[in-house]
Amino acid sequence: MDIEILTIGDELLTGHTVDSNASYMARKLLQIGLRVKYMSSTGDSLEQMEEAFRLALNRAQVVITTGGLGPTDDDNTKKAIVKVFKRNLIFHEEVLDDLKKRYEIRNMEMPAINQNQALLPQGAKFFPNKHGSAVGLCISENGRTFISLPGVPQEMEQIIDDEVIPFLQKMPETESIKVIKLRTTGVGESKLSEYIKPKLKLESGVQLAYLPTYSGVDLRIISTAKSQEESEANAMDLKRYLESVIGHYIYGIDTDTLEEIIGQLLIDNDKTLATAESCTGGYLGSIITSISGSSQWFTGAVVSYSNTVKINQLHVDTKIIEQFGAVSKECAEAMAIGCREQLDSDYALSITGIAGPEGGTDEKPIGTTFIGLASSRTTTSRKFNFGTDRNSNRIRASYAALEFLRRDILDIT
Ligand code: ATP
Ligand code: MG
Repeated sequence: MDIEILTIGDELLTGHTVDSNASYMARKLLQIGLRVKYMSSTGDSLEQMEEAFRLALNRAQVVITTGGLGPTDDDNTKKAIVKVFKRNLIFHEEVLDDLKKRYEIRNMEMPAINQNQALLPQGAKFFPNKHGSAVGLCISENGRTFISLPGVPQEMEQIIDDEVIPFLQKMPETESIKVIKLRTTGVGESKLSEYIKPKLKLESGVQLAYLPTYSGVDLRIISTAKSQEESEANAMDLKRYLESVIGHYIYGIDTDTLEEIIGQLLIDNDKTLATAESCTGGYLGSIITSISGSSQWFTGAVVSYSNTVKINQLHVDTKIIEQFGAVSKECAEAMAIGCREQLDSDYALSITGIAGPEGGTDEKPIGTTFIGLASSRTTTSRKFNFGTDRNSNRIRASYAALEFLRRDILDIT
């Protein structure tokens, strides 16, 4: 069953609105085993919509549109439906009554223009809208199903979740799908593929995708099959294989985040963490404190951007900075030791590097970063060479620091 998502709105074409509706719908459809074949966007004019509707109906059995269902003159979706499907608009009393009631509850008078919202194409099924005035529409004709939803994300989401998904699930052609995301960090996608490829066997209907981000590479398994048992079994087989070849790079699954995993590890071991940050300027602390309950295991951060702060607050020896520079293994380790003492934590992570775009030298090019780790057992550090982009360097350094700690706690070499 080929599906097309067609989003409507001039603001999408000018780039002023990011098309979050399309990605929301595609994700929801995938969860019930429906893959979208085409995604397209068109403008608000009647001509553009007509053309886009005809094209979509030609190449897909199910078309879902969003936008242009409102009551104002610039909302042309119903007019385009009338032209393409050659149907009249019919007045639906129950839709109007429902709308009137909503205005009554809020003690407001319903604007007359809203009466248009009760005019629906003949023979269309409609989906109630809990958050707005435009109901969703569904027309079935010649083996095609055409669904139109309002553009406001909150309204679209409610109708998709409560109405469209259950409706599509009842269609005979849906398959079962299982999606698993394995989250890795500290290793590039080409290296991962070197480990994974040699003995990889993919069952039919199973796909593996590498999804790199600044914080790591996610491996996404998508397994489709006729039955739920089969799709799950195939996905689990691949998951087990991946764990056997790259297990120690996997820190979590699906929606797990590295910061949450670290938090749980520290809680389980009854330990605390503090950070000393130079080039990340508090970014690591910010990631950590975005997790509710992190106060249990995070004592604080020192943003030691200047050498003075490194020396005065973290007690880094002036001689270390003079001899090795602030971006050095020695300085990173001294920052971690000082941070652990000053902030009274079991572990301290330090980050010092050249984020760019200025400040690189031949010896220490942009992206050179040292991450230090101090604990009651030991003090260590690692040198990283990230890229040349300032922002991504700050993100990468922060996640590399968390991974450094994870490996230390779990004794992964
Ligand atoms: P209304 O009754 O509010 O007029 P509508 O169905 O006519 O609803 P639009 O007017 O096309 O919808 O869009 C309403 C708002 O919803 C837009 O201003 C925009 O902010 C948001 N929106 C529309 N389409 C999308 C989309 N594809 N992705 C994200 N947001 C969207
Ligand atoms: Mg509108």
